[in-house]
Amino acid sequence: MDNAATTPVKKEVLDEMLPYFTEKYGNPSSIYRLGREGKAAIDDSRNKVANAIGANPKEIYFTSGGSEADNWAIKGVAFANKKKGNHIITSKVEHHGILHTCEYLERNGFDVTYLDVDENGIVDLKELEEAITDKTILISIMFANNEIGTIQPVKEIGEIAKKNGVFFHTDGVQAVGKIEIDVDDLNIDMLSMSAHKIYGPKGIGALYIRKGVKIHPHIHGGAQEKNRRAGTENVPSIVGFAKAIEMACENIDEHNKKLIKLRDKLIKDIANNISHVKLNGHPEKRLSNNVNFSFEFIEGEALLLSLDMVGVAGSSGSACTSGSLDPSHVLLSIGLPHEIAHGSLRLSLGDFNTEEEVDYVVENLITIVDRLRKMSPLYENVKEDK
Ligand SMILES: *Cc1c(COP(=O)(O)O)cnc(C)c1O
Repeated sequence: MDNAATTPVKKEVLDEMLPYFTEKYGNPSSIYRLGREGKAAIDDSRNKVANAIGANPKEIYFTSGGSEADNWAIKGVAFANKKKGNHIITSKVEHHGILHTCEYLERNGFDVTYLDVDENGIVDLKELEEAITDKTILISIMFANNEIGTIQPVKEIGEIAKKNGVFFHTDGVQAVGKIEIDVDDLNIDMLSMSAHKIYGPKGIGALYIRKGVKIHPHIHGGAQEKNRRAGTENVPSIVGFAKAIEMACENIDEHNKKLIKLRDKLIKDIANNISHVKLNGHPEKRLSNNVNFSFEFIEGEALLLSLDMVGVAGSSGSACTSGSLDPSHVLLSIGLPHEIAHGSLRLSLGDFNTEEEVDYVVENLITIVDRLRKMSPLYENVKEDK
């Protein structure tokens, strides 16, 4: 239940990819048949990706994934528009692909405004408008949050950006395949996408760049991706990404119906069976597959390890990978105190999860939370107070 971290490659996706490793291995830049075959596969894939988000294929640039797309959008626009201004607006709950890129730009002469969010994780549109100055060149606010699932008012943000002549980028990695996206309707100038969150391979994604957006090339070298992102194309992965996004966007509603049923059952069963819990993120404006709870008097890390022992994969908000014990910047931004943020668990559902699995997770959670709380002196105090 950690599908927001990554997903398995679907069989249909793998099947489309396989020939491009072996018999159709040509370099798409070669003029002979084998090369042309690769080129045709890329063209076809670009059409599919463009189709999924209402874009023109000419506006799709393949990257190594969401992080690269985020880096390119921010740095590319910043350096290309330096003469106009040096101010960027983003939010405090972005993925590190955005936040760390913005911090890098701050060390290189740019000014960044990090907007606050409310207790549900949503940015304030009035604050956004007020933050715009004549030096503002870019607004980057994520479509849907990877930790708490909150969906931002993207269309309204796009309108504000357009009205003020500022480019608008959104990290759509978690939104693609779960929310209907039409870049024109939503006034999106740039959109980051990644394949491995939607049953495609890891290491491939794309940046949508609207025609007319002033942006620097990202990798210098050959003429691939219209001279903007050099390097021999990863043909099998591009083909896999295209198949994955096509499948994910085919019938979003039907897809979501199943996920929402599981999500709401998981939320209800946890809230009804475990005391001192809090659902994080917006109750309605929420990704169809996201569940995020804080469990008082518990360490998220201990919870994850105990769940792992019974075969359940989840995620906590703490940045354990970096070896730090800082709680998640997202949970702190929605106003959770450190100790509550520390006891948080994200469960994210996917196409392969079942109702039985939800029951299994809740059963185990009840036992684990009970056991961990019995070891907590703080919890003992609460019980005695009652
Ligand atoms: C996973 C994720 C990324 C990074 O994508 P990669 O393809 O793993 O580099 C960026 N933004 C969000 C919101 C994500 O969930």
